[in-house]
Amino acid sequence: MRFDEKGESGIDKKILLELLYPAKCPFCGEVRSYGEPMACPDCLKELKVVEPPHCLTCGKTIDQEEEEYCQDCATIPKSFRRGYPVYEYAGELPKALYDFKYHNQRGYAAFFAECIDRHRGKQLRALQPDGIVPVPVHRKKKKSRGYNQAELLGRELSGCLSVPLYPDYLIREVNTPPQKELNDILRMKNLKNAFKIGENTVQLKKILLVDDIYTSGATIEACTKVLLSAGAKAVYYTSIAIGRGYSG
Ligand SMILES: [Zn+2]
Ligand SMILES: [Zn+2]
Repeated sequence: MRFDEKGESGIDKKILLELLYPAKCPFCGEVRSYGEPMACPDCLKELKVVEPPHCLTCGKTIDQEEEEYCQDCATIPKSFRRGYPVYEYAGELPKALYDFKYHNQRGYAAFFAECIDRHRGKQLRALQPDGIVPVPVHRKKKKSRGYNQAELLGRELSGCLSVPLYPDYLIREVNTPPQKELNDILRMKNLKNAFKIGENTVQLKKILLVDDIYTSGATIEACTKVLLSAGAKAVYYTSIAIGRGYSG
């Protein structure tokens, strides 16, 4: 039987796939019944939403209420206007994000986009961006992994927010080594000249960058600089998670 269409059987492809490969909670692995939300309520409750007061730049929680910026953004000011990360990079989330990125868990994209919409949708809509631009990966990496998780997330978010997605607006020219192996200064250096504007006919003025995790901020910053130099007026970002205790 072919699964790529609503075939002679009359069974909807989506239902059939769900029956063959039932959805599992991204956090505890429990099998979810058809039609249930992807994550079980207990696991969802364990996720830590980034609470105010937020850094006015990157959006992470700041410890002293009288401060406006986190130490990182105060030390190295950023070029993007504002970030809207959703969860602390803690608990069971890192594993789920790892599976989303490396273990072909493409189905998590819709779930995580809904999480972003639930917690940050109001603010993101108020920005009225012209377009959503996912942080790109190098074409070789996309080919070997089969997809770019930020692009899948951006696509789902585009549907939630009714903002068009421009998956090739930015491209990654240099196949950089994984950032986590580098210190902050090397991260910035590593990403200098890594991105450029792709071939396209539109020029976006107000852009929402989308990535899965904001760690040092070096990636979002490098993308922002390229977008601004290409005529963008304001760049924002959203991510599923933000790390604490990183600098930059
Ligand atoms: Zn669970
Ligand atoms: Zn900050």
